[in-house]
Amino acid sequence: MIHLPKNDPETYEALADTVRGFADSEIRPIAEELDRTASFPRDLYSAMGELGLFGITVPDELGGSGMDVLAYSIVMEELARGYASVADQCGVIELIGTLLTQYGTPEQQSKYMADVLAARKIIAYCITEEEAGSDVAGLRTTASKTDDGWVLNGSKLWIHNAPVADVGFVLARTDPEACHRGMSIFIVDLHAEGVERGPKEHKLGQRASQIGALSFADVKLPEGALLGELNRGFYIMMSVLEKGRVGIASLATGIGQAGLEAALEYAQQRKQFGKALVDHQGLQWMLADIAKDVAASRALVRDAALRLDNGKPAGKACSIAKCFAGDMAVARSSDALQIFGGSGYIQGFEVERLYRDAKITQIYEGTNQIQRTIIGRELVKQGARD
Ligand SMILES: Cc1cc2nc3c(=O)[nH]c(=O)nc-3n(C[C@H](O)[C@H](O)[C@H](O)COP(=O)(O)OP(=O)(O)OC[C@H]3O[C@@H](n4cnc5c(N)ncnc54)[C@H](O)[C@@H]3O)c2cc1C
Repeated sequence: MIHLPKNDPETYEALADTVRGFADSEIRPIAEELDRTASFPRDLYSAMGELGLFGITVPDELGGSGMDVLAYSIVMEELARGYASVADQCGVIELIGTLLTQYGTPEQQSKYMADVLAARKIIAYCITEEEAGSDVAGLRTTASKTDDGWVLNGSKLWIHNAPVADVGFVLARTDPEACHRGMSIFIVDLHAEGVERGPKEHKLGQRASQIGALSFADVKLPEGALLGELNRGFYIMMSVLEKGRVGIASLATGIGQAGLEAALEYAQQRKQFGKALVDHQGLQWMLADIAKDVAASRALVRDAALRLDNGKPAGKACSIAKCFAGDMAVARSSDALQIFGGSGYIQGFEVERLYRDAKITQIYEGTNQIQRTIIGRELVKQGARD
């Protein structure tokens, strides 16, 4: 069992070392194969569940690791340095674990939490639809009240884990007249009658993460399927997204760090014009630019995490971190690939995968355009100073 230290400032480094060691021994060696075969590493997730790597901020008494958001960001960065798809799984479990912690009834917590954190039940966080991407107000999936529960109808798109998931946390419209104030969250058994799954999507990157569609045709839900207050679902889903954005920003930082390490090692080994690449100033400067942006990204992530941990307003900081880190991962993984020359363009080289894995960090958990909209809105509302 990995010993995950609690929220003592002196032990964050030990936490990073522990998870880095796990990523080096258990994740990095299989990352290339997982990417090539686009397969779901169920055994790895079971092992990670046993080790306490899921539910980092979920309280001990609910079966989590009881640490803070800063610790979560460290875990996400180190997992992503191993392979971003694995960190992504940690991220979706953290979101659902947070939803259950903050809004679940004791019955819902005891029914789902242990299985979710042990990865015995694979979960899906289901918001996006054909007409509801960045603008969640376009949501069409409905949950209609019956005498003894609800009936769910509609469909969801590009849902992480959909092809393999057991339980969905589904945002549905419960009041057709009210816009954002007419949505609720339902915990849905994805093996129930009326649930159908689309095929696994073929993606550019993070290929071990399984993405697909889900459709619901007259799916019967019991009363106890409602999570949180009726018609508050939009706000509940959004309330966990600040932590989610810290998670994706950390993941993007991990991709940047992996690119830096790979590029530096290659530049020290490869010789052209009679000396190592690293001895050409132009390449040293490229490496310096990657290093400074990874460090800046990490500092922004830690700032956002600490704000959440200290109960300070964190919306703008989380969006700044997510936006900067995602843009950094895309730009700097491209630079890392460039340092490899032609080799970087060939499948099987880590930098080629990192370049593909980075792109989605600008799209999911709110696109980087939406992050800029949030940052701009906060600036207009509160001024240029925090
Ligand atoms: C790999 C992957 C995994 C995903 N996982 C999940 C999941 O688990 N659960 C889930 O619910 N969803 C998931 N999604 C969906 C994801 O959250 C959406 O793709 C994302 O929110 C953007 O929505 P969209 O694709 O419909 O783009 P659109 O909203 O149609 O946007 C298209 C473009 O326009 C820009 N844009 C839109 N509105 C504005 C505006 N007001 N101002 C400026 N620019 C704007 C966007 O930034 C984007 O560049 C996933 C998607 C992918 C690809």
